[in-house]
Amino acid sequence: MLTLPALEQSSGVHALLERKLVACDELDRVVGALRDGRRPAAPASPLELFVALGGRTWNLARLDPLLPGAAALDVRLVDDLTPGPELAALVGRAADQGVFVTLVPGAAVLPPETIRAFVVARLGRLTVELAGASARRHDAVAGAGRWDVAWRVLETLHEERLAGGVRWPEPSVHVEARFEDLADLPGLVVKLAGVGVTRLTLRVTETRGLRPLELVAVAESAELAETLGMAFHEPAAPDCDEPRGVCVHRFAAFAVDPLGVIYPCAQGALRAVDEYAVGGIEADDPFEVWRGAALEAGRERAQALEYPAGCAWCLGRGDGKRHDDGHPTGRLREATHIACQNLALDTARRGGGTP
Ligand code: SF4
Repeated sequence: MLTLPALEQSSGVHALLERKLVACDELDRVVGALRDGRRPAAPASPLELFVALGGRTWNLARLDPLLPGAAALDVRLVDDLTPGPELAALVGRAADQGVFVTLVPGAAVLPPETIRAFVVARLGRLTVELAGASARRHDAVAGAGRWDVAWRVLETLHEERLAGGVRWPEPSVHVEARFEDLADLPGLVVKLAGVGVTRLTLRVTETRGLRPLELVAVAESAELAETLGMAFHEPAAPDCDEPRGVCVHRFAAFAVDPLGVIYPCAQGALRAVDEYAVGGIEADDPFEVWRGAALEAGRERAQALEYPAGCAWCLGRGDGKRHDDGHPTGRLREATHIACQNLALDTARRGGGTP
């Protein structure tokens, strides 16, 4: 592994980071206005991009105009297809712009050469999702043999990162566990550490009335993860099903579904909620959509806490960011810092000058 060069030594990257942080400040001002009950103008450009990709892929270069203003790009593969080279190319263009890119491959098969292409493109994080803490549970939910597919991705990623001598992409695992799964959790943590996983998120979907960290196996796993140098996140359970604040995604996010339909948030795109559709990525200018009447109307409704029925699933899980959450831009600031550090490191290791 290379040591981290001072970001200041790479003035191009430093300027890039400054621009992203100014964009985060802009979103913070929006959140401040929402807290004061004022009507904010939307930021000049969305900070968070989300794309879900399936069998039919639209022209990914249509996202390029949004990359300079974005801090994070989340990509989710929704079919069990192998992504083509155009996805690694998009990751590379985003990473060149200081955008932190996360890939969730779902059931997709990622051969070693595809994973290598993502490493070369400076993917920020690769998140493997497990539907349980054991092969038996995961395969019962995801389908026979899916545990082995997920595990191969983690092993290959570990090998490619070691071979490349790079710290990206961050190998990350998300586990959705039921109560009866939890006994397998500490063993899973040890296995994940063995393939270099450095981040584990857990959602316990059925807790028998206990708060997750009160569950012995979860507390033990959190401690074990910390000992093994793995960040452990366990999202707080929602305290109620009612909207408790203004959804910030309406002011920050831009999401595209596998058919190229644009939505104001990832949940809208993943669940293809028709009432949220605001345009099409191949036919429309993304900035016109961002500033357009449909998104503006949605922002107004969000500020009035008039959530459409399609939001119920998201609100019920406590997903998303609300204007009264602690620090809505915290994750984005951290993400863009990492993306810019990775860019500076890669430039240094390739022997390049100022990017
Ligand atoms: S509450 Fe959830 S589903 Fe509704 S707009 Fe916000 S992020 Fe999207």
